[in-house]
Amino acid sequence: MRGLRFKINEIQEDFVQNYSGKDNVNYGCSMRGAWRALQCMKNDVAIVIHGPKGCNNEFKLDYEDTIAKTYCTEMTENDVITGGLGKLEKLIFDLDKRPDISLIVILTTCTSELIGEDIDTLLQNLKNKTTKKCFVLHTSGISGMVQSDGHNMVISNLIKKYTSKNNEKIKNSINYIGYSWPFDHRAGRDMHELNRILDELGIKLNGVYTSNLGFSEIKEASRASLNVVRCPGSAYGTINFMKENFNIPYLKLPIPVGLKNTTDFFSKLIDYFGLGNEKKQILRSYEEFVCQKLSLYKEILKSKKACVAVGANRTLYLVEALLELELEVKVISFYRIHETIGDSVVKIAGKTFENLERLRQRYNLDCEVLVYSDSKQFYDSIKKNAVDIVFDVHTNRKMIHNMGIAFSESMDVEQPYHFYYGFLSLAETLTKELNQPFYKKYKEFCR
Ligand code: SF4
Repeated sequence: MRGLRFKINEIQEDFVQNYSGKDNVNYGCSMRGAWRALQCMKNDVAIVIHGPKGCNNEFKLDYEDTIAKTYCTEMTENDVITGGLGKLEKLIFDLDKRPDISLIVILTTCTSELIGEDIDTLLQNLKNKTTKKCFVLHTSGISGMVQSDGHNMVISNLIKKYTSKNNEKIKNSINYIGYSWPFDHRAGRDMHELNRILDELGIKLNGVYTSNLGFSEIKEASRASLNVVRCPGSAYGTINFMKENFNIPYLKLPIPVGLKNTTDFFSKLIDYFGLGNEKKQILRSYEEFVCQKLSLYKEILKSKKACVAVGANRTLYLVEALLELELEVKVISFYRIHETIGDSVVKIAGKTFENLERLRQRYNLDCEVLVYSDSKQFYDSIKKNAVDIVFDVHTNRKMIHNMGIAFSESMDVEQPYHFYYGFLSLAETLTKELNQPFYKKYKEFCR
């Protein structure tokens, strides 16, 4: 089905609500989301995908030895007929012998679920024969279409199963929930900046769920005095459980991209913990430093036309950050504007459009909005609006480059992107990208 395309001042919410539904919410599968939430944990966690090689195929990343490793039972046609539990049992025994592993998490796939593999009973039977902690998550694509469901399952199960109730709270401390890139790789460097600035403000970062966590840190999640929600879809099971069982409240803060959103993020924490206005002076010094450095980049980026293509939650914050860099946002493309929470589709379009309308009025935005568009609609809109740079998921980089258009990832996969230093890094990356030879050719071609 073709997606929707309209001018920002002509959004008809009812139309979008009626158009969209569960059928359109199909990005990845929950197994993929669960894997993503686990792969950034420390290497005392072993991930076991119980299914065919294909389910594990795209998960060969270039990460080092310090993070969780993935194993796969590589089910074959034969296993589909006779069952694959024997392979799984053998793998569990092998991993159980490894002194470096504390926790084994098994993820089911369509194949193992469709043939009715009874992994819960297998684990029950192995309980007295193995020493390591082990549990299964039913994550197959046929039972869950959305990646954030997988994230949510991982974080909430880890906390429910292994976090101790008896920890003493640390004053002025937070858990950051719903962020899952390895700490020491690529954009995980953003988390170092988070840690450093919180430290300066007198706030302790108790943990990022699940980035850089080992089994022992999971036990200590209840030491935080506040949970900060990074991604609502990934965090909802955890924050509600922790509120009820550990008496830890939660705050939903802006995604810290750009100066305004970053300063809002930290200011709200300063206010929440009552740390006083002098701490806000620290933020002002950061802002001044970044503003000074940004002026050169802005000269190059000024009036370049941008398309932002990403999920609803992040889009609006990213748009604000790009406007701060003086880019013109000409196309906003939502991959999806509905969330699934468990089995039900939550209609969040209204809230997204309200926020979009606020942005339109505040910044005088004049752009096209695409919702669930196909690639032809997307390309037509980019051409019609003479877009210079597309912000999209990194897997679409090649396609955008093949169009001759500059590209920047809209997720934080490849470079620092959040907070003050991340914003400078984003500006630098955009400047470099807009000087690529293919991009210049494209501009000559369009003239
Ligand atoms: S949808 Fe099913 S078959 Fe595809 S990767 Fe996910 S679990 Fe594997």
